[in-house]
Amino acid sequence: TEQLLVNSDKLATVGQLAAGVAHEIRNPLSVISGYIQLLKEDHKELQHVDIIDKELTRMNLIISEFLDISKPNSMQLETKDLNLIVQQVVTLLNAEAHFKNVAIEIKQPNNAIDIECEENQIKQVLINLVKNGIEAMPNGGVVTIELLEEENEAKIRIFDEGTGIPEEQLATLGKPFYTTKESGTGLGLMVSLKIIENHRGKMLFSSVVGKGTIVEVILPQKNVSEGKA
Ligand code: ADP
Ligand code: MG
Repeated sequence: TEQLLVNSDKLATVGQLAAGVAHEIRNPLSVISGYIQLLKEDHKELQHVDIIDKELTRMNLIISEFLDISKPNSMQLETKDLNLIVQQVVTLLNAEAHFKNVAIEIKQPNNAIDIECEENQIKQVLINLVKNGIEAMPNGGVVTIELLEEENEAKIRIFDEGTGIPEEQLATLGKPFYTTKESGTGLGLMVSLKIIENHRGKMLFSSVVGKGTIVEVILPQKNVSEGKA
C-alpha cells in the first residue's frame, strides 16, 4: 500500500505564536547548556549531569526542528543538480552510517538532474529520510538512494531494509510528535513534508513490515515549475 502525505494548514495560525515561544526558549536553553558543560568539566563525579546534558540536547533538537517548519515561506530558488546534492548528503552521513553498519548506495544517471530548489532545505529532507532508513535497521543493512527523471519530474527513491511501517501507521506519518523511537522527536517527516510541499513536490511512502520501506520524493523540474513561484 502507498500513502501520500499531506500537511494541513492549521499550523499557520497556531504555529506563528508557538514559533515565537520556541525562539524565546532557545536562548535560556543555550545558557543552561553552556553552564552544564562547565559543571561537567569541574565536577566529573556528578553522573546525573550527563543525563541533563542529553535531555537538553534533545530539547534543542526539538526546538530547531520546530523553528525550521515555522519559517516563513519566502524561498530563494536556485538551479541545482540533484546528483550533486545527493552525493554531498551521503558524504555527510557516511560516518554515522558506517558506525551503525549501514552502507549507503547511490544509483544515479550520468546526466544532470536540474531542479529549482533551496538547496539546504532539500539536503535537510534527504538527511531526515536517510537517517530514518538507518535508524530502521538496528542490525545494519543497505540504504539505497535512486535518482531518476520521468516526464519532467525528478524522483528520489530511498529504500531501506528495516523494520517497515505497519499499514495502519502510514497515515500517521508526518503528524507532529509521532515517533516510535525512544529519543525521537517525531518532527523530521513533518519538516520534510513541509519543505517538499513548498517546492510543489510530493512524498509517498510504501512499506512492508519486516522487509523495509521505500520513500519516494517527487519534485517538478525546472521547465515545469517556471512562472508558478
Ligand atoms: P523520528 O525519526 O524522530 O521518530 P520522524 O518524523 O522522522 O521522527 O519519523 C516518525 C516515525 O515514522 C518514526 O518514529 C518511525 O516510526 C516512522 N518511520 C519513518 N521512516 C521510517 C522508515 N524508513 N522505516 C520505519 N519507520 C519509519
Ligand atoms: Mg527521523
